[in-house]
Amino acid sequence: MEKTIFKKIIDKEIPADLIYEDDDVLAFNDISSQAPVHILIIPKLEIPTLNDLEKSHDLLIGKIIRIAKNIAKEKDIEKKGYRLIFNCNQDGGQTVFHLHCHLMGGRKLNWPPG
Ligand code: AMP
Repeated sequence: MEKTIFKKIIDKEIPADLIYEDDDVLAFNDISSQAPVHILIIPKLEIPTLNDLEKSHDLLIGKIIRIAKNIAKEKDIEKKGYRLIFNCNQDGGQTVFHLHCHLMGGRKLNWPPG
């Protein structure tokens, strides 16, 4: 199967504007930013969608959320607020089938998102 664009970023086959990296997780700026802060936090493990989550992923997902919180603090948006988004499949607007968390902030975000 063809590698996803995010797997290519993990494998350093294509560049990304990296914000954070450790053995399990990568964070980088979204290429098509929709807010002053728009960062993607992804597991290095290939999990296509939220529907593929298993109990063994619980710690990894918790870590992704904690790293997102840390980045929000580094970007100085934690007090004003921000949003974490996981899109799933077609109706959720998912376009890259490698699980990822959008961290968005730096402006007032509309609700409901539409
Ligand atoms: P989603 O629609 O939830 O699957 O989000 C995929 C996100 O990946 C979109 O916001 C895209 O702008 C972003 N994206 C796609 N290709 C790249 C890339 N090469 N580097 C950074 N972000 C990307």
